[in-house]
Amino acid sequence: MFNDRLAALGTMHQKQSVIAPLFKKELGIVVRVPDDLNTNAFGTFTLDKKRLGTQKEAAISKAKAAMELLGLDIGIASEGSFGPHPSVPFGVANVELVVFIDKKLDLEIFGGYIQIVNFAYNMSVSTIEEVLTFAQKIDFPKHGVVIRRSEKDYGEMVKGIVDKDELVQIATRLLIKHKSIWLETDLRAHKNQSRMKNIELATIDLIENIKRQCPKCCSPGFHKISPKPGLPCQQCGRPTDLPLFDVYECDKCRFTKDIIFPNQKQTAYAGYCDYCNP
Ligand SMILES: [Zn+2]
Ligand SMILES: [Zn+2]
Repeated sequence: MFNDRLAALGTMHQKQSVIAPLFKKELGIVVRVPDDLNTNAFGTFTLDKKRLGTQKEAAISKAKAAMELLGLDIGIASEGSFGPHPSVPFGVANVELVVFIDKKLDLEIFGGYIQIVNFAYNMSVSTIEEVLTFAQKIDFPKHGVVIRRSEKDYGEMVKGIVDKDELVQIATRLLIKHKSIWLETDLRAHKNQSRMKNIELATIDLIENIKRQCPKCCSPGFHKISPKPGLPCQQCGRPTDLPLFDVYECDKCRFTKDIIFPNQKQTAYAGYCDYCNP
């Protein structure tokens, strides 16, 4: 179905280093990267270019642009975001989404990964000591630094700093001219090892979804949708909000399948029960 086919990957931040080997090994797909795709046009983390549309739409646009440039019928792209964690209070989450588009087979399949992170920060500083404290806080140089004049002033912006001498040199030069400067973590994949790892894990999830065939029509991409709640309370047996079933669905023929006890547990801790623990 996919063996020896070519895929266009929409990236200019070296995401092929983690995505290409997985596609080759697991599906026999050879990944190519166009030379002249400017993915910054689809939005940047530094917000000098805002993203249009949703995370999913941005990933699809990048994949389609890469397919267009290389004239291929398979496209792949990823899009990341940082924001409040959906279920962990006060947690900042990195959500990575990867899309696989196959025009020939009419497929659009997604994979994802979510991680609570402690490296995504920004702040205004006025001394070199503060610059070094910031670097330590974000686990530099595993995660790079972006420097500019102020939060909203993109003048003199330098991205991708991953060398300590360079960091000190650039910060010193700017602090001579300005009372304070703006620092933020470089969240682009090639300057952020944690994000690159999360993109790899999202790609593994995507490939699992591609490989999972619909039991009815055999199309690839049989994937998980929202679970059904109702796992019984261990104490009173009443249904809780925890999932009783995982639900898989085929986008082609709409066949769905329920898998009972998705977390290998047949009852819920009474703490989750509205009756035992109101
Ligand atoms: Zn199907
Ligand atoms: Zn109960």
